Amino acid sequence: MTYEVPRKFPTTVVGSYPKLPPAKEALRRLRKGLASEEEVRPLFEEAIKGVVEDQLWAGIDIISDGEQTREDMVVYFAERVKGYMPGEWVKIFDNVYFRKPIIYDRVEWTRPLTVQDWLTATRYSKGRPVKGILTGPYTMVEWSFDLYYKDRYEAIIALAREIRKEIEALVEAGAKYIQVDEPALSTRPWREEAEIAGEALKILFNGIEAKKIVHICFGRVEEILPYILDYPVDQFDLEFKNSNFRLLPYLKEYGYNKELGYGVIDVHNTQVESVEEILRDIERLMNLGILPPEKVYVDPDCGLKRLPRDVARMKLRNMAEAARIAREQW
Ligand SMILES: [Zn+2]
Repeated sequence: MTYEVPRKFPTTVVGSYPKLPPAKEALRRLRKGLASEEEVRPLFEEAIKGVVEDQLWAGIDIISDGEQTREDMVVYFAERVKGYMPGEWVKIFDNVYFRKPIIYDRVEWTRPLTVQDWLTATRYSKGRPVKGILTGPYTMVEWSFDLYYKDRYEAIIALAREIRKEIEALVEAGAKYIQVDEPALSTRPWREEAEIAGEALKILFNGIEAKKIVHICFGRVEEILPYILDYPVDQFDLEFKNSNFRLLPYLKEYGYNKELGYGVIDVHNTQVESVEEILRDIERLMNLGILPPEKVYVDPDCGLKRLPRDVARMKLRNMAEAARIAREQW
């Protein structure tokens, strides 16, 4: 079964989706040591199937597995890459704690970590492409304690070499879209940092035959924008809605001309954007006159995991409907 992704304004998601009840149960059993990964696999498969069905119902063109097996975008990988060990709980917001992992030895990728979930999602996707989604080396190092490399650059490059193996495994399985998430980049918006992340991306993506995407969100992206535009990627996927499209004039100022994952859905707000509102927001970008509709991928600002499921579903549905109307207009 093949599915033709619309040429103009294809719709997609950034990755995570609210955890469905079977995934919550599976994660609970794993956390408490009550079951093995193999034993809870059927629960995860059921959850991924549900996530895929929601996205098909909403009309999304390029979908994800909803990251149902990942309790956290950094910890998931850290627990499965050799050289890492579980860390201490650290406070990141008022009431949010994060178990910051520790690099204590040379990092080493020993087996595919996301391919099984990608295959499960693909099995239910009715031909729609499923994005392969990974946490990038810059963010992995930034949100870990490093006791081994002692030098951030060295640690990031070492991780990039290992994460590349996951990208190769996804592409070999058939993934046509690879997205690397680097949210930490916007928290250190300086030229030197952008250059380090850029070196890592060269290692990740050199010679990879798939659509190459980097997702960056929240924080002062406009300050690093001039330094990331020559990254070896096809597409930047960026948050716009939550910051009231503050970034838009900078795209024009810096001559942005890659594909753009255009975030038009606020993932921190349970109010569902109306079709008209999303259309107006698409219009803001089109009015800049910098990108043709073929280069504009319509999607939410970031992962949807913190929203209630029915809200996430409706937001995606309105977004897909707005993109459909936009295709007639531009
Ligand atoms: Zn994000």
